[in-house]
Amino acid sequence: MSQTATSRVQEHIGDPVADDSEVDRGKLKEIFNDIQEDFRYDHELNGCLNCGICTATCPAAHYYDFSPREIVQLLWTENLEGIYDAMQEKIWACAQCYTCAARCPFGNSPGGLIMLMRETAIKHGMESAKNVLRPFSRVMLKLISTGNQLSPDMITADGFADWGPNVSKIDAPLEILRKAIPMPTLNTTKTAWEVNLKTSVELYTIWEETGVLDQLETIDENLFDVITDIMDERRDDLEDWLEEQEDDED
Ligand code: SF4
Ligand code: SF4
Repeated sequence: MSQTATSRVQEHIGDPVADDSEVDRGKLKEIFNDIQEDFRYDHELNGCLNCGICTATCPAAHYYDFSPREIVQLLWTENLEGIYDAMQEKIWACAQCYTCAARCPFGNSPGGLIMLMRETAIKHGMESAKNVLRPFSRVMLKLISTGNQLSPDMITADGFADWGPNVSKIDAPLEILRKAIPMPTLNTTKTAWEVNLKTSVELYTIWEETGVLDQLETIDENLFDVITDIMDERRDDLEDWLEEQEDDED
């Protein structure tokens, strides 16, 4: 599964154009191994012609200094410094639309590979991951602490002042817009906000067991602490409720 033993580029060749990395080579290898050893890696990367079809069809490449072809080439040639560099900023430009995966003649999924790099950036607590996720901390708090989705009527300039000046653009007549463009869910905070206690605790347990909360602790310890407190309270509430049910049956 892992291709570590059959490195396509020998270590001594390195990258002839990259400056010396600030990060030692052992760390760079560790990061690359984490990406490469994921069971999805070999499925997402089969080879690369460097044809650029992925970049030509990528919406993010039109707006940012970003190219899925470049990312795939970095991985394919095992350019450790380049991979690390791309994880500082470029990988966060991807919109995860997977147009690239539909078009690649090699059956690669550049978007899928970028997802693996993002997960690895989070695992290693990279500053880029912290910066990208910081504006969403309130959203994550809502999602994890309530077990519910972010309903459209929550997205207002007042509710998300920390999203910056552009938040005013979403201060639109959302009710009217939603009626004009019906969506599968018209849930609002009124109709969608109460998740039953048992479901909420089950969701916490899933996030705990799957390592989501560990990742959260790596990138935002304060948020993790707040959520852990909420989680403990919910578990106590559920136990109390279960005991009450038992008492009622006796
Ligand atoms: S990932 Fe696919 S589409 Fe993109 S450059 Fe490589 S072979 Fe071409
Ligand atoms: S998944 Fe990412 S890299 Fe691929 S086309 Fe969409 S935005 Fe571009």
